[in-house]
Formats: sequence, structure tokens, C-alpha cells
Amino acid sequence: MSDHAHPHHPNIVTPYGESSSKCGYCNGARAAPNSSPDSAKSSRTYGLLAPSLSPTLYKYLLDSGFRRSGTYIYLPNNKETCCPQHCIRLGCEDWEWKGERKVLNKVGRFCNPPLESSEVDYREELIAYVRENLLRLNVDERMLRDIGIKKKGDVYTTSILNTLKYKHKVSLEASEDDFENKDEVESLEIVKGFINITLFRRFSVSSFLPSTTKNAAVGVKSKKISYKLLPSHLSLHDPSVHRLYCEYQQKVHNDPNPYDDDPHNVDNSGFKRFLVDNPFSDEEKDLENGIVLEFDDENILESFDLLGCWHLHYLIDEELVMVSVLDFLPDALSSVYCFYATHSIPLGRWSVIKEVEFCRRWRIEWYYLGYYIESCPKMKYKGDYGVSWIRRGRGWMKLDAEGRRVMKEEEESLWEEEKEEEEEEKFGPARISEVANEIGIVLQVREGEAARSESDED
Ligand SMILES: [Zn+2]
Repeated sequence: MSDHAHPHHPNIVTPYGESSSKCGYCNGARAAPNSSPDSAKSSRTYGLLAPSLSPTLYKYLLDSGFRRSGTYIYLPNNKETCCPQHCIRLGCEDWEWKGERKVLNKVGRFCNPPLESSEVDYREELIAYVRENLLRLNVDERMLRDIGIKKKGDVYTTSILNTLKYKHKVSLEASEDDFENKDEVESLEIVKGFINITLFRRFSVSSFLPSTTKNAAVGVKSKKISYKLLPSHLSLHDPSVHRLYCEYQQKVHNDPNPYDDDPHNVDNSGFKRFLVDNPFSDEEKDLENGIVLEFDDENILESFDLLGCWHLHYLIDEELVMVSVLDFLPDALSSVYCFYATHSIPLGRWSVIKEVEFCRRWRIEWYYLGYYIESCPKMKYKGDYGVSWIRRGRGWMKLDAEGRRVMKEEEESLWEEEKEEEEEEKFGPARISEVANEIGIVLQVREGEAARSESDED
């Protein structure tokens, strides 16, 4: 991805200044002991309004500690704030997470639900199973050509040992232990030359045969997952998006759900400012129906200019279950926000797995998860996705065992001593100018008051 597609993309910011607010993470509990009279406002940030920014400049700002909410970009003052916030990212190429299998199994089970085993006929699979095991006992293959199996509920019976004995004159001293264990087999017993196999009543259908074949056999349809990527302003026109957002905010943040009062007259302007508006002028992306992501489309980045803000819709059987708000930046995918339905699949964790997978497919190196906050148990989960990287000082620190120790120590000694940093970092307006200068980007700084009075006149 390159930024050259936006030759006329001006970089305009209006400084908003430093601000103090009530901290949503610690509620002021971690405020400095001898802090200002207004210690309830213990969260300190520096902010700017950014009506237009190139994805390239924003990527550098992200790497310098900034983040955005709509067209407002801000930088936590980690020296003075109660809950320091550090940018966190995953290196997609060699990312590993031990929780991945568990999440994907849940997705698999939801889409291909286990069946009552009695509903399905597994005779063919069990004939193969018995044949395999008898072959291992050196029975001549020709004698095993017509194994018969009878089915009664979950119990399958074969008289093959008696056939061998009386027809082929082979007395086999086979015991239960000669048969390989199988996940689906609850018990196997040999009684008077009969092998009785009892299957578990429920097991994953994928065990014996590919799930689609099995499901088709009994008329159970697998659920279909699809992914759709839309420019944020087009996503806004899908009424189910804002509805899902309100449900999520109600569930997670206890916000009142406007659809409960008057579903026909709902104001979505707050949602628009927060998760649709962005500095990347995505009005240029006029793909009416969005892009339907195909799994094998590795050339999507060459086919489309993806730089900017997009909504990734996750659908199961055409029903919207999750929306991930994503900034596509040069060599980075930044997760802005993610909201989802109440579901048996852990959707939030699933989105991280899928989005890292998309990054790999499209050869995007970094996946940004937002801010990591060591002091906030609710926000610490972001460090639990395998090994990640935390922005610290002017570089990135690997959040492995040693990295965790460093973070913990720093967190515990929050107000104890002067923090030492390897290289003093500039803060506020100095930092954004420095970043722009370093990459040779022209930054237009407009006066705050003037900009505000202009918009008042509108
Ligand atoms: Zn705090």
C-alpha cells in the first residue's frame, strides 16, 4: 500500500490543547497523591482536531503514541496521567496465540453443530474402522471384503469374528485392546464373536467424514460465514450496523438503547462522529455495495485502494453479528473499535484471529490493537494475545515475560520517583510537528478559535 494515491491529501490540524478529564479506567483512584485541586480529573491528554490527514502521516502519529476518535486525535500524557496508555501491536507474520484453537473450535461447532449420532448412519465408517484394525492383526485382506454391520440406535454390531472362524477357519484371539481408540467410540466390546461398538450420542460431525457430506446426509445445513468490507460512510447506511452498536453499548457500557424508546426516530450522529467520520476522506470510495472479501483474494490490495477507514462486517448466514472498525494504513491495520452481538462464539477474540489472518494474506506486517493499560484489568486483556509489542519511550518493547516484569514494576512505582526515559520525548504540539518534519510532510496548523467560530457560523 502506498500513499501516492492521495497526492492532494492535505494534512490539516487544529490544536485543541491539553485536557483533563475523569478517568474511565480507574475513576480517579490512581490520581497523584498531591495533585491539583481537581484531582477527580486525573486523565491527561493532548488533542487536535484533524479534518484531513494522510494515512501515512497518521501511521507515523500512531507509532508516536497518538490515536484517533473520529477526527479527533489525541496523545495521552503518560507522565502525568493516572493510567498510562501504551500503543500495542502484533507482528502478524510470526504471531502465535495459544487461545486460538479454542476460539476456532467454537466457531466450527457453531457453524457445524454436533448431531445426535443416532440420527446419522455411520455403518460405512465403522466397517472401515473394523477392517483397519483387523488388518493390523494380520488378517488376510480378502477375508475382510464383506464385513457386515447392523445398526440399532447408537450401537453397531458385526459378526465378522464368527465369519472368520466358521467360514475361513481363522480363530482370532482379538480383544477390545486390539482396537484403536477413537473420539466417537464410547465403548467397544467383544461378546461371543460379535463386536459391539457404541458411539457417543453427540460428537463433532467432522470426525468421520468432511462435515458438509455428513450434514447433507441428514439435511442439516452448515452455517455460512462471510465478510464484507465497506467504506465507513457506506456502512452507516446499513440500519443493522447502528442497531448492533447500540445493543453493544447497552450490554457493555450500560448505555440506554435509543431503539427501546422510538425505533423509528433514532439519532445516529454520535456514532457517526465516533466511528464513521475520519480524516482520510473516504468519500472517494464510492463502491456502492462494498467489497465482499473472498478468502483467496490475495490481490485485493492491488485491486482496490484500501487506505483509510473501513467497516468490516462479519455475517453468519447473512446476519450481521460483528462490525470491526479498521484503519488501513501503510503496512498496518489499526483496530479502531469493534462491536458485536451476544453470541456463543467469543466474537471479540475471533475478530483478532481473523484480522491477523487477513493481514498475513495481504502481507500487512502490523496489527494495532489500540492502547494497552497495565493498571486496568479491563484493558490488560490486549496483552494476552500471544506475544505483542508495546510502545515505550521511542521504541517498541516485546511484551514477553521480561516485558511484563518491566511494565508491572513501572505501574507499581507510578508516583514514586521521576520517571527516567532513555530519550526525552516531546509532548503536545511539539510531538506532532516533529513527526511531520521527520517524514517531510507539510502540516497545516489552523488556529483553534478561528476554526471553531467558522463552524459556528455554518
Ligand atoms: Zn486512571
